[in-house]
Amino acid sequence: MAKKVIIIGSGFGGLAAALRLRAKGLDITLVEKQPDLGGRARVFKKGSFIYDGGPTVITAPYLFEELFSLFNKKISNYVEIVPLDLWYRFVFSDGQTFDYSGDEKLMEKEIKKFSDKDFEGYNNLVNFTEKIFNKGFTDLSDKPFNNLTFMLKQVPSLLSLKSYKSVYKLVSDYIKNEKLRRVFSMHPLLVGGNPFTTTSIYTLILFLEKKWGIHYSMGGTGSVVKALEKLMHEENIKIIKSAEVTEIISNDNRVKGVKINNSEIIECDYIVCNSDPPNVYQNLIKSKSNYNFLFKQKMKRMDYSMGLFVYYFGSKKTIQRGGSSYYLFWKFLRKTFG
Ligand SMILES: Cc1cc2nc3c(=O)[nH]c(=O)nc-3n(C[C@H](O)[C@H](O)[C@H](O)COP(=O)(O)OP(=O)(O)OC[C@H]3O[C@@H](n4cnc5c(N)ncnc54)[C@H](O)[C@@H]3O)c2cc1C
Repeated sequence: MAKKVIIIGSGFGGLAAALRLRAKGLDITLVEKQPDLGGRARVFKKGSFIYDGGPTVITAPYLFEELFSLFNKKISNYVEIVPLDLWYRFVFSDGQTFDYSGDEKLMEKEIKKFSDKDFEGYNNLVNFTEKIFNKGFTDLSDKPFNNLTFMLKQVPSLLSLKSYKSVYKLVSDYIKNEKLRRVFSMHPLLVGGNPFTTTSIYTLILFLEKKWGIHYSMGGTGSVVKALEKLMHEENIKIIKSAEVTEIISNDNRVKGVKINNSEIIECDYIVCNSDPPNVYQNLIKSKSNYNFLFKQKMKRMDYSMGLFVYYFGSKKTIQRGGSSYYLFWKFLRKTFG
C-alpha cells in the first residue's frame, strides 16, 4: 500500500511538494487553513475587485512546466504564461525613470541616461553574477544546508564569489551612479531581504532573470494556482481546505499524524510542513523533549525576516503604460507615500 503523506500548507512550496510526491506514487493529502489554495499567492475579492495577494513575477517558468510534465501533461493546456518585454519601471523621487528589461540595446540606452561609464560596469556585473548563478542556483539551490561538512566544503567557492559582501556593496564595485546602484541591488527585496545586509549571493537573481526572462500568467498568478489545483484533482490528491493543523503528532521520534482544528486526527507516514518554522517548532510540535540545548537557544534567537507592506487598491480606469491614467496612478502613489 502506498505510504500516506500529509502536506501542510498550499503555497507554491506545498503545491509543488504534493505533485512531486504524488508522481512518485505516494498517497497525498494536502491541508490548508485558508478557505482556498495559494498561500501568499492567494486570490481574494473585495467588492467587485479581485486581487492577486502576492507574487506576480515568474522568473523560472520551467519549474511550473516540470510539475505538469511529471504526469505527461502540458502546462499550456491549463494556463497561459507569457514573457514580458518591460520587467520593472523604477521611478525616482525627482521623476527620472529607468525601464528595466531583457533587451540589451534598451538597457544600454537606459543606463546611459544616468551614466555613460556604468554600461561597461553593468556588463562586468552581469558576467560576475553568472558565476554566482552557476554556484548558487545550478549547484546549490536544491541542496539542504543541514550538514556541517557539506557547508564547510562550500566556503572556498563562496568566498571567491565574494559572498561576504552585501548585494549593494558588490553592485557598487561595478556601478558608480547611485541611482543605478539602487536599481541593480533591488533583487533581495523580492525575497524579503535588505540589499544593504543580504549576502551578494542573491545577485544571482539578476542573472536568473536574464537567463529565463520575466513572465506573467494571463489572468494573474491566481490562474497558476487554479491550474495546479485542477492538476491535483486529476491526479487524485486529496485537498482539505479551512483546516488548520494545530498539532503534529509524533511518537518515538516519528511523525504519526496531524490534529486539525484542535479536533480531528489524520494519520500518516510522512509530513511535509510548509508552515513558518518558528510556528512549527514552538506551537505545532508539542513535545520539546527531542530538542537539544543548542537548538533551544537557536529557537530563542529566531526572528522573522523583513516582510512587505502591501497596499491593495482598485481603479475603475484602465491603467496603460505611458498613458494619462498611468501618470495619474504614479501621482497618486507619490502623493500617498511621499
Ligand atoms: C506581496 C508579495 C509579492 C511577492 N512577489 C513575488 C514575485 O513577484 N515573484 C516571486 O517569485 N515571489 C514573490 N513573492 C514571494 C512568494 O510569494 C513566496 O516565496 C511564495 O509564495 C511562498 O510560498 P510558500 O509555499 O513557501 O509559502 P506560503 O505561500 O506562505 O504558504 C504557506 C501556506 O501554509 C499555510 N499554513 C501555515 N500554517 C498552517 C497550518 N498550521 N495548517 C494549515 N495550513 C497552514 C498558509 O495558510 C499558507 O497557505 C512575493 C511575496 C509577497 C508577500
